[in-house]
Amino acid sequence: MGRNTGPSCRLCRREGAKLFLKGSRCVSDKCAFTRRDFAPGQHGQMRKKESNYGVQLREKQKVKRIYGMLEKQFRHFFRIAERAKGVTGLTLLQLLERRLDNVIFRMNFAGSRSAARQIVQHGRVYVNGKRVDIPSYIVKIGEEISIKVKDPVKKRFIETFDSFKDRAVPKWLEMDQANLKSKIVAMPTKDDAGFPIQEQLIVELYSK
Ligand code: SF4
Repeated sequence: MGRNTGPSCRLCRREGAKLFLKGSRCVSDKCAFTRRDFAPGQHGQMRKKESNYGVQLREKQKVKRIYGMLEKQFRHFFRIAERAKGVTGLTLLQLLERRLDNVIFRMNFAGSRSAARQIVQHGRVYVNGKRVDIPSYIVKIGEEISIKVKDPVKKRFIETFDSFKDRAVPKWLEMDQANLKSKIVAMPTKDDAGFPIQEQLIVELYSK
């Protein structure tokens, strides 16, 4: 499945927010958005009034970029959310949070979602004991997610976990960090996204 391969920091500047796409760099003074918090390009510093459509589009782009997805797959997730029972916007957020790459990121074994995606693609992640190398796999309540690696590499994962101890693991994950494992014990809530998201704007955009 495709992914964004362009410079990540431009995406933050385009969306006017820190999207935390680069792990520890994002919380250092090297963050490009902290230094230049305006859109990239020649007219980046010009203020323009967004139309309703523009506001909805920007919100969708922002969320899509946070989760490192391209349009086709993001829209596919939206269609699943739309067909499911419940409130579409919240269901969409829950689907995004339950992506396997996001779960590895939330478990704090990767600094960014793109690093988490690589861990999944390299075949190191198991769901209920079976290897799953699809980053967009949606985890379910009751499933156990584990990373299987040999001892020296395991130590590196624990170090990564420790280095992100300020980033709380959400309550819908029951962690066993010593064994690089976690169990899905609940559905993520809107607050678990850890970012102010107006999902209703995305629903309005795709419902036109
Ligand atoms: Fe965004 Fe991180 Fe780059 Fe800062 S360092 S602009 S938060 S990706």
